[in-house]
Amino acid sequence: MRKNIVAGNWKMNKNFADAEALMIQLLEYKKNNTTNCEVYIAPPALYLTMAKDIFKNAEVEVFAQDVSEYQSGAYTGEISVEMINSIGIDGSLVSHSERRQYHGETDSHANRKVKALLDVGLTPIYCNGETLEQRKAGQHFEVVKNQTEVALFTLSADEIKKVVIAYEPVWAIGTGETATPEQAQEIHAHIRSLIAAKYGQEVADEISILYGGSVKPDNAKEIFSQPDIDGGLIGGAALKIEDFSKIIEGFN
Ligand code: PGA
Repeated sequence: MRKNIVAGNWKMNKNFADAEALMIQLLEYKKNNTTNCEVYIAPPALYLTMAKDIFKNAEVEVFAQDVSEYQSGAYTGEISVEMINSIGIDGSLVSHSERRQYHGETDSHANRKVKALLDVGLTPIYCNGETLEQRKAGQHFEVVKNQTEVALFTLSADEIKKVVIAYEPVWAIGTGETATPEQAQEIHAHIRSLIAAKYGQEVADEISILYGGSVKPDNAKEIFSQPDIDGGLIGGAALKIEDFSKIIEGFN
């Protein structure tokens, strides 16, 4: 059985005090509620140590938003898998569309980052998805296929089973425009069938595929009810406990 996951991507939001306050609210929420999904957060790198400390006895996994493809050395501004591993972080987002858009990341980078994370036993949440032009041109199935193959298909079956995939159509991120549950489902099913063709159905059935792009309290339940959608990667709505908790409850 694959995991249901709700993951909050805080992006570049909140100062230290506000980040601490939101983590404490989430901790309280988790103490007082049983959830039917795993809960992850990816706060800014600066707050990862604090997050590990706050959630030390809670079932909230803490992820980085990005990680270097290099092991160590003269890479100013970068954070390595070894560093996040050494403070007990559970994994990292990889190649979020904002990393692709503003930092020139490609699926070749994604491939190396995914491998670097898996090599030390951490979980990659690999993000992909088409742009608006690509969707309008009817290329979305092809784009997602190429992305998935380049980023993941050098992995062994045992490795790919440990990857979480987040399908995030670029046109739905932060825009308030959500893919319909049917639009998301058809791409999720497509990704799973690509994995099944390469690695077998059993492997494909073990991989959690999350949807991201304007998931909100009022649409989460319907999106999560789709057969190939195993949860969400949440941006804006992860920044308020009222919204994030209602999205988590989309699995109740
Ligand atoms: P959004 O962001 O929920 O604000 O659309 C999702 C994401 O970028 O992961």
